[in-house]
Amino acid sequence: MKTWKKRTKAVHAGIRRSQYNEVSEAIYLTQGFVYDTAEAAEARFIQSGDDEFIYARYGNPTIAMFEDRIAAMEGAEDGFATASGMAAVSGALTSMLRAGDHVVSARALFGSCLYILEEVLTRFGVEVTFVDGTDLAAWEAAIRPDTKAVFFESVSNPTLEVIDIAAVSKLAHAVGAVVILDNVFATPVFSDAIAQGANVVVYSATKHIDGQGRALGGIILGTKEFIRGTVEPYMKHTGGSMSPFTAWMMLKGLETIELRVRAQAETASMIATALESDGQLTQVIYPGLETHPQHALTKAQMGAGGTVLSIDAGSQAAAFKLLNALEIITISNNLGDAKSIATHPATTTHQRLSEETRAALGITPGLVRLSIGLEDPDDLLADLRAAIAGL
Ligand SMILES: *Cc1c(COP(=O)(O)O)cnc(C)c1O
Repeated sequence: MKTWKKRTKAVHAGIRRSQYNEVSEAIYLTQGFVYDTAEAAEARFIQSGDDEFIYARYGNPTIAMFEDRIAAMEGAEDGFATASGMAAVSGALTSMLRAGDHVVSARALFGSCLYILEEVLTRFGVEVTFVDGTDLAAWEAAIRPDTKAVFFESVSNPTLEVIDIAAVSKLAHAVGAVVILDNVFATPVFSDAIAQGANVVVYSATKHIDGQGRALGGIILGTKEFIRGTVEPYMKHTGGSMSPFTAWMMLKGLETIELRVRAQAETASMIATALESDGQLTQVIYPGLETHPQHALTKAQMGAGGTVLSIDAGSQAAAFKLLNALEIITISNNLGDAKSIATHPATTTHQRLSEETRAALGITPGLVRLSIGLEDPDDLLADLRAAIAGL
């Protein structure tokens, strides 16, 4: 299995067949497991093996299949599946930090990630320093000999800044800090984050892993020691585990993720290139475009620009007019879905931020985030061009 490519692992890794030898992974909708004897129960609570389960909050065969499959794809030793992406982000951080610890984080974060770092961790006595994630000198200045962890999104939402995983990891490792990466926008398909230096990789499985807008989920990936020694005890006692039914959906999502995400990224690239050359918009932001400030880094780190692009219509009124004119692309706030989705960050996902913070992060009133789905690329471009023509 170690020599398999990602696409093969996405279909076969982690499979556990029952005595019936089913082809499709079984859904074990059971919260508990039976022991043959009282002695066997006692033994399992002392030490349970890879295929020995106690309670679904601790683990379950369907959940274990999902954990093993995505860990294999990511090149991580192990993984712990969680109820949502936020359970994964908060679990990865809180399981390893204690009062008095210091963390350095990129400032451009998904709103809920910012809440964990700014409100939750600091309330429990963790000191957090925020930096401009694209500025390596700022990381270097903020990381201290006592820094325990660094946290960032490899591609920021919604302004699509790309952060240098290898360079930040090098700075963090020099002081023994753990690199925790929220890798949603890179997706498991375009990620080589562990090889590039990240110690812990977190995904919201809600996005590209499900890929069809059905369920919330998340995964924390890392070394066996970190996952089983630090994350599992915290997650199993605090209750953020994934449900077996969700794990089955995510397993099925992984089988097709390579095909979906590569098709979505190709369409995103085509649309970004076309809209940029049309010249009708104030700005087109896509890491795959040559005009993107981190274009070279994107190519080296991810090999592709991803499935999301952002456009600036110039004003909130223009952005709203554009959104309301779209016929195929739906107005919502998920991303990575088969359905293309348009979001106005300033009034929805990033509404809670102050105007100054939004300005500092580049979230302008005219900014529209486009998550490109699986529709026909020409139909999507025509939908956008028609909406833009009406401005
Ligand atoms: C969506 C998202 C999350 C949170 O995931 P949920 O599954 O919604 O809890 C965290 N980080 C990033 C970058 C996201 O896009």
